[in-house]
Amino acid sequence: MDRKTDKLHIYFLPMMAPGHMIPLVDIARQFARHGVKVTVITTPLNASKFSKTIQRDRELGSDISIRTTEFPCKEAGLPEGCENIASTTSTLMYLNFIKGLSLFQKPIEQFLEEDHPDCLIAAPQFSWAVDVAAKLGIPRLFFNGAGFFPLCALHSLMEHKPHLKVESETEEFIIPGLPDTIKMSRQQIPDHLKDETESVITEMVRAIMGAEMTSYGAIVNSFYELEPNYVKHYREAEGRKAWHVGPVSLCDKDNEDKAQRGQDTSLYEQQCLDWLNTKEPKSVIYICFGSMAVFSSAQLLEIAMALEASDQKFIWAVTQTTINDEQNEWMPEGFEEKLKGRGLMIKGWAPQVLILDHEAIGGFVTHCGWNSLLEGITAGVPMVTWPLSAEQFFNEKLPTQILKIGVPVGAQAWSHRTDSTVPIKREQIQIAVTKMMVGQEAEEMRSRAAALGKLAKRAVEKGGSSDNSLISLLEELRKRKSSSN
Ligand code: UDP
Repeated sequence: MDRKTDKLHIYFLPMMAPGHMIPLVDIARQFARHGVKVTVITTPLNASKFSKTIQRDRELGSDISIRTTEFPCKEAGLPEGCENIASTTSTLMYLNFIKGLSLFQKPIEQFLEEDHPDCLIAAPQFSWAVDVAAKLGIPRLFFNGAGFFPLCALHSLMEHKPHLKVESETEEFIIPGLPDTIKMSRQQIPDHLKDETESVITEMVRAIMGAEMTSYGAIVNSFYELEPNYVKHYREAEGRKAWHVGPVSLCDKDNEDKAQRGQDTSLYEQQCLDWLNTKEPKSVIYICFGSMAVFSSAQLLEIAMALEASDQKFIWAVTQTTINDEQNEWMPEGFEEKLKGRGLMIKGWAPQVLILDHEAIGGFVTHCGWNSLLEGITAGVPMVTWPLSAEQFFNEKLPTQILKIGVPVGAQAWSHRTDSTVPIKREQIQIAVTKMMVGQEAEEMRSRAAALGKLAKRAVEKGGSSDNSLISLLEELRKRKSSSN
């Protein structure tokens, strides 16, 4: 079958979290457009989020399909249907979800044995995938969703541990060995880096790092021109193999694809476009904190008051943030009515890429998830950076300290899926938003951001840096395949 033909068959195993799944499915689609037979493995509920897009690609000639297997919710102690990390609502559920990932191994191993693909591309959380691939004699590439800069910063911290040498949570240290002088404080780094006592999380982090080291190489959603020194640092100083294939969101070319990215947003698609079409170019701020953030009502109120006072036009996606307050009681009375025409609220999953790509968007308030960061850069807009958790405090340094297209809102402390107890005050938010939108500095940031947006688009075109990188990876995999046949 495929092992006897020249056609590569690649298995993709995304982590069941929107920030991992969305880009890895886009990457899988890119591979299929380059003549690869692609199989994406996931659970039924997760599959339903992108099956329409895959079906459309198939109709256009891509050899791409989905294989599903049930997630072992019951065995992992999770409620039925909890198949995505964004559905976990407590630390216990989160830890049980992580446990479920190891129980997932058996059925997937069986798929691999049946199909015997030529390569497995998996999230590092599936650390067992390295051994499974080794057993089959195929390379296992890892995709963890982050860019080169945060990967290098994290590796440096894990190796040199500068955060253990400072006296307080707020004292700054320099991340050793990076091409730029990047400063951080202990309070900005994940708990599991600070506290190394044995736990399910430290065990998982160790397994992830181990999987990264022993993988054939990394697939990275980035492009060379965005972070050239970190691409080189990762490859040369750290001696790892890596291919940059982004920005992957650019594989969604038409509005239908953009609006169905991650979830079907057809409900808001036309509403957003109609509203944006009435606005001047570069005049609207888009605010969204990704798929996982949980804000307190007090924090949401501060954002609302800042937006009202700022005099700026805005689209605000209040996605998961309403988890704690479904009645929207945090909203100041008459807020939506009063700001009609100036502000649009989206209470659900926003068509983020569709919105960012609209010419009326002039700035992005982001939590600095890697995907959002890259989508903002691709759209060529400056940003207000508001990191919360995961690797977002590392990511923030790229737009603010290196690229100089971002204004920090002043978030100081990392927390696991923030329910911020110390809200960022409305004055702080208003100052940052105004700095991003108005004045000489804003103009300079805007023109640097626009230049990066052009480079991003160029990178994925034929002959661009990301396109070339993808082609060179496929050539390498084809050579391996033909020499093993
Ligand atoms: N996203 C979206 N609509 C929303 C919220 C998020 O389309 O309302 C998408 C966003 O475009 C990005 C992904 O979800 O591709 C979130 O990934 P990111 O790395 O930015 O943050 P995370 O959710 O992992 O914290």
